[in-house]
Parts: sequence; structure tokens; C-alpha cells
Amino acid sequence: MANKDTGGTSAQAEPHKPATKAITAGRTDSQGSLAPALFQTTAFQPSTIREARKLASNPRSDRFYSRYGSPTVSAFEDAVAQLEGAESAKAFASGMGAISSVVFSFCMQGSHIVASRQLFGATRQLLEAFCPKFGIEVTFVDGTEPGALTAAVIPGKTVLVIAETPANPRLDLVDLAELGAIQGPFTVVDSTFATPLGQLPLTFGVDLVIHSATKAISGHNDAMLGVLCGEKDLVDMVAGFAALQGACASPADSLNGLRGIRTLPVRFRQQSATALALATALEAHEAISEVRYPGLESHPQYELAQRQMIATAGLLSLELAGGFDAGESLVESVKLALHAPSLGGPETLLIHPASTTHASLDEDQLADSGITPGTIRISCGLEDTDDVIADFTQALDSVLAEK
Ligand SMILES: *Cc1c(COP(=O)(O)O)cnc(C)c1O
Repeated sequence: MANKDTGGTSAQAEPHKPATKAITAGRTDSQGSLAPALFQTTAFQPSTIREARKLASNPRSDRFYSRYGSPTVSAFEDAVAQLEGAESAKAFASGMGAISSVVFSFCMQGSHIVASRQLFGATRQLLEAFCPKFGIEVTFVDGTEPGALTAAVIPGKTVLVIAETPANPRLDLVDLAELGAIQGPFTVVDSTFATPLGQLPLTFGVDLVIHSATKAISGHNDAMLGVLCGEKDLVDMVAGFAALQGACASPADSLNGLRGIRTLPVRFRQQSATALALATALEAHEAISEVRYPGLESHPQYELAQRQMIATAGLLSLELAGGFDAGESLVESVKLALHAPSLGGPETLLIHPASTTHASLDEDQLADSGITPGTIRISCGLEDTDDVIADFTQALDSVLAEK
């Protein structure tokens, strides 16, 4: 990272804090414009044939053809890389674009992947339904069990170890230090729920970090984006495949992504505070058998959360005592919270994972992911905390009344 000249003092300039980086990062191509410039173009004009050849043979060119890159996309990538403390970042058309690109860049026929069972539904489907078609074998383990991911690694055969923490939707955690210590395969963490403000997996020795930037990073429900962070060599390797895969981030969505980053620290702080207050308030409610939030002492991995997370983010899940019917009744009874997929935006949302984000899983897969008919995921928005708590309290009261 380029530090400003400290004026001759020998002391290293203190690296800026995340909230400052969110404002200063990603300004390389703004040419004096305060807001990022939108390069709404598919192509650029190389000055000579030689220049064209150089650009065409570099999958990370950002001034040739926008499937490879674009200055607006680069600005977004630079901002995420700085927040994540990564040497390099590469943006994609979606979180799944990033995940599938990582899998198919590193693996070939005969490769082996170790994955945590606690994964976003689409990631699990990609690994379980599609990888075998290409001769890629996947072993799923309980990522919350100490040592399980490490023990499943087959030396010389395992190419990737993939985990998600906190995992969608049950907020299960994977030990980042243990993951980072695995030798041999590349280790990959989907850190979407935490954002770079909630944890920094690279500092634990993890090789690659993925975000669905569609969520809290963009933060306004108006951009589909994924991003991959890590050492430049590794990210470049994936970029070579990504240029052919074609899940490239659009300049317009990257602009929205960068706009989101500017306010991510304040949004994240507010959403984390609401989530903790809501989780605390609902824990004793009669309609609920369990509230899962990594910032609650009752979370089975509370100690781990304290060790590896900077803040526990804006998502929680509820286990409703009344199962599916109670879930249906809760969704119908909330007045402020909205029923929608996605997360990390301004509106407080709730969703029934078994019917939506994890609908591709069969009953056994749902059971081994810990998702029941009574599981509800909540993404806390930016409304007043008291109003959010009051809404869920009245809705849960009516769930009880309807029983
Ligand atoms: C949404 C999500 C994804 C997929 O991201 P898209 O941008 O929808 O492709 C991956 N992982 C997690 C944890 C998610 O929440």
C-alpha cells in the first residue's frame, strides 16, 4: 500500500483504519472527480498493434475489452483489496461467478476438494451436483468440528479446501486459524456475512477470500457482484480462466459496489448493533427455541467468534418452536421487515432458507446443514433498532396467538 511521505521522519506511517480506507481506496482513475468515473464502454482503443497485442494477452487489462476488465471495475477491486488487506482482488458478475471460477481454475479431472457442509445453497449445489460431472471429487465435512477440514485433506490430491464463515444461514463458524494452517491445498473462505469489516481471513493464513459483494459490500440491493481477494499470482491465475468463463463484473455494478464501500463501515456498525440487540431481545421469546448470533454468549462458538471476528455483523437466525407453520405465520405477521432474499442492504429482511436459499438441498442435505422447517434468517437493515425489535416482537407474539 502506498503511504504518503511522512516528511522525513523515520517512523513508518500508521496504516489507516478500515473506515478511512473505505473512503481513500479505489480513487486511481477518478481524474479529480470525487465520485468514481463510470467507464460505460465495452472496448478501448489501443494506440498501436503492438499495444493491442500486449493488452489482448493480459487477462487483467483494464483498458482493452471490458470482459477482461475496466477502470471502473479496477477501482472497485482496489478498494476491496485494501479493505481485505490483499495484494490483489478480482471482481465478478456475482458471488457465484467468483466461486465457480475459483473451482474450475484450480481443479481438473481427478482433483479433490474438501468443503465445509455449512455452505450457501448454490455453492453446495455447484460442488455436489456439478463437480462430479467434471471428475472432481468433493468431500463434505462438518466445518464446525475442530480438525475435520484438516483431517479430510488427501495429500497430493486435495486441491482446494472451501469454507464459509459465518455460514449462511445458521451463522455456524469455521476456525480460520485452523484453516489457514492447512498445508498443500489452497484454502478458500466465503466471508460474505462478515464483510472485510467483520473479519480478515488472510491474516490467519487463508489463501483466498470470496465475497458476494451483491450483499453488504454494495449494500443497496442494486448491484450483482462477486469479488476474490488474495496474493496477486493466485488471483491472476483465476483471472485467466475468468476472462474465458465470462462472469465479468459490469462497470455500472462496480460503480455501485464502490459507492457502497464508502458507507460500508457506518452501515456495518449500525447493522451489527441492531443484530446484537435484536438477538438479545428475542432470545427469551416463547415462540423461539434458539436464536443464533455469533455475538451472543449462547452461540456454541461464541469463544471462536471473539477470537477471529472484529465484529459479528448484521445477520442472525431464529429456530421457531412451531416449525414451518410458525415460519409462515412470522413472515405474514411482520409489518416493517420485508420478505425477500439477499442480505446486507438498508431494509431489514427475513427469509425461510429451506424454501429459498437452500431449496436445492434434499432433506438429508438440509438436515446435515442444520436447516430445519423452523429456521428463519434475518438480515438487519438500517431502520431504528427499537422499531426492528418491536416489529419482530409483535410478529412473534402473533405467531404464538395463532397456535
Ligand atoms: C449470496 C451469497 C453467495 C452468492 O452470491 P451471488 O452474488 O448471489 O452470486 C455466496 N455466498 C454467500 C454466503 C451468499 O450469501
